Amino acid sequence: MMARRDRLLGPAYRLFYEEPVQFVLGEGVWLFDSAGDRYLDAYNNVACVGHSHPHVVEAIARQAAVLNTHTRYLHETILDYAERLLATFPAEIGHVMFTCTGSEANDLALRVARTCTGGTGVVVTETAYHGVTIALAELSPSLGLPDPTAPHVRLVPAPRPAGDKTGEIFAGHIRAAFEDMARSGIRPAALLVDTIFSSDGVFADPPGFLAAAVDTARAAGALFIADEVQPGFGRCGEGLWGFARHNLVPDMVTMGKPMGNGHPVAAMAARPALLKEFGARSRYFNTFGGNPVSAAAGIAVLDVIAQEGLIGHAKRTGTYLRARLSALRSRHSLIADVRGSGLFIGVELRHDDTPATRETTQLVNTLRERRVLISAAGPHGNVLKIRPPLVFGTEHADLLVDTLDQAMCDDG
Ligand code: PMP
Repeated sequence: MMARRDRLLGPAYRLFYEEPVQFVLGEGVWLFDSAGDRYLDAYNNVACVGHSHPHVVEAIARQAAVLNTHTRYLHETILDYAERLLATFPAEIGHVMFTCTGSEANDLALRVARTCTGGTGVVVTETAYHGVTIALAELSPSLGLPDPTAPHVRLVPAPRPAGDKTGEIFAGHIRAAFEDMARSGIRPAALLVDTIFSSDGVFADPPGFLAAAVDTARAAGALFIADEVQPGFGRCGEGLWGFARHNLVPDMVTMGKPMGNGHPVAAMAARPALLKEFGARSRYFNTFGGNPVSAAAGIAVLDVIAQEGLIGHAKRTGTYLRARLSALRSRHSLIADVRGSGLFIGVELRHDDTPATRETTQLVNTLRERRVLISAAGPHGNVLKIRPPLVFGTEHADLLVDTLDQAMCDDG
């Protein structure tokens, strides 16, 4: 199957794990392989309300059986969804535009930022990931291209809030980046950050540390785009959005991944004044973005998050899981830090000052052999990335931590 895949899909794709896995069925927090063995999913944030959730499946099937067109026709469901989504944002965010992927949402946000500022300069973090288009690959140094930085891009180190509680150090890096841009004659357009710094290694606390960076970017004339593709839809366990923990209101918000629980729907929400200017100069249509089936999927996801109380659940399970992971520190000196918010957790592994990259990779693979799925993040790949469906319970947290504990003993 792997040879066939290589032959058909070519060499740019990567598979997870030294021994790749083939799933044939998903249910809640479980994935099943072709031999019928079940794996605990502690990684897939897309299936936020659980794999194959019946309410979402039914909503998609029902709408697909009736009509699927696009946003150029009037359709109640699209407007109902827009209304539901916008109600989750601060009052300043008044419009939402639909796309199919997070990349398209970020790309659209950049177009709006360029139009409204007249600038092109963008600041992102050193190990950021924001998408697959040409514009976003230049803003995604984690893709590892030889020279990801275009002349209009400036990279800043990810925030290290443990030693920068007020965020002033991070804000200082951003100020310096915009000053450097100005010296090169480049006008600023945006500060674009993932509000939990997922690919940089998961930095969530203390809440509020991001506000100084946003003020600094605005003072330089840039707009702030909050990339909520990873932290959004309740994962952080406090409200629906990662930025809200930082007590700030973005100029634009991009979202995707968990939005349709696997159905490809994404969006960009913005302050109306920005879209007034953009709309006056440009028109927008995305063939599949926000079609009635996507809108039905999106509504169903919001229904389940509310009906099953998944934000509070993510907070409770996340707190429990972080406490159990922190307790492992007394047994395994490799664990240097356990951090995150809700069910977005990073476990940093180090030998004193040296990132334990090899051990992290080995652990991710050992856990996969023991049928627990996680991955790694950060510039050195030494942060275990734990990001399960939000329906993950304490019994699943126990299985994850016990398996990790045992793997760390066995891996030495
Ligand atoms: N932003 C962030 C923070 C992401 O993690 C991703 C996807 N990993 C994207 C944007 C791009 O989303 P998509 O893959 O849907 O284009």
